[in-house]
Amino acid sequence: MTIFNTPEEMQAWSQAKRAAGKRIGLVPTMGYLHAGHLSLIAEAHKRSDAVAVSIFVNPVQFGPNEDFAKYPRDEARDLALCREAGAAAVFLPPVSAMYASDASVYVTEERLGNGLCGARRPGHFRGVCTVEAKLFNIVLPHVAVFGQKDYQQAAVIRRMVRDLNFPLEVVVAPIVREPDGLAMSSRNVYLVGDERQRALGLSRALQLASEAVADGPCASESLRRRMGDVLENHALKIDYVEIVDAETLEPVAEALRGNVALIAVFCGKTRLIDNRVL
Ligand code: AMP
Repeated sequence: MTIFNTPEEMQAWSQAKRAAGKRIGLVPTMGYLHAGHLSLIAEAHKRSDAVAVSIFVNPVQFGPNEDFAKYPRDEARDLALCREAGAAAVFLPPVSAMYASDASVYVTEERLGNGLCGARRPGHFRGVCTVEAKLFNIVLPHVAVFGQKDYQQAAVIRRMVRDLNFPLEVVVAPIVREPDGLAMSSRNVYLVGDERQRALGLSRALQLASEAVADGPCASESLRRRMGDVLENHALKIDYVEIVDAETLEPVAEALRGNVALIAVFCGKTRLIDNRVL
């Protein structure tokens, strides 16, 4: 496994792989790896000859009052996990290698990223699109694997790849959960005391939504209220609870199978998101 810290070295490796006829798979991450990330690496192995993992906590996608500075980091452990998972390359750049101090070009998606997390975290998807566009140009992957855990992010990136003609395939892999249902997340490490137990409200509210539509359509508003009750019973502060069309991400009046329920809450100071295709 080779570790690269500069875009130039990473790009040279990718160009050599391409020249040798190899298919490159990319798994972009912010590090502090868990089984969710490892499932993406496994998926990338199925679809490529050489897997590159990027580990970069991207400052541009964090708001001024968010957790950029204290986002969990453990480089040594992440590298060991990447090696064990059979990654051929890890791209681990410092912020200064990714953003010139006078950087002035950003990528914005103007529809799918407006609601949900986009509305709650202004500028977030601009940061996401910009860093992914850069990673695609640096790693030159044939396929990039993302997690459904960040449903809106995956939709925004798919749209960017389509609309800007990036020559790669976007694959979205299922959410990996703890045995009790909590979606794995690097931010789960922030949960203290009873917060870990209270965080189960997210998967329970999504379970309720899934069961509700299994028997037929139901009014979105009353379903969202019932999901909200579950969250509040777990002492979670709701950021949003939405039922949306799986493709357009527009809220639906009537919840149907195939729609997506998405939740963002604060569990203490920690913002958690989860979703489920109904
Ligand atoms: P992050 O490091 O949190 O930015 O996530 C990097 C990638 O891993 C993104 O594509 C996430 O959607 C994905 N991911 C994060 N958590 C999970 C999970 N529990 N299951 C599957 N994929 C995940």
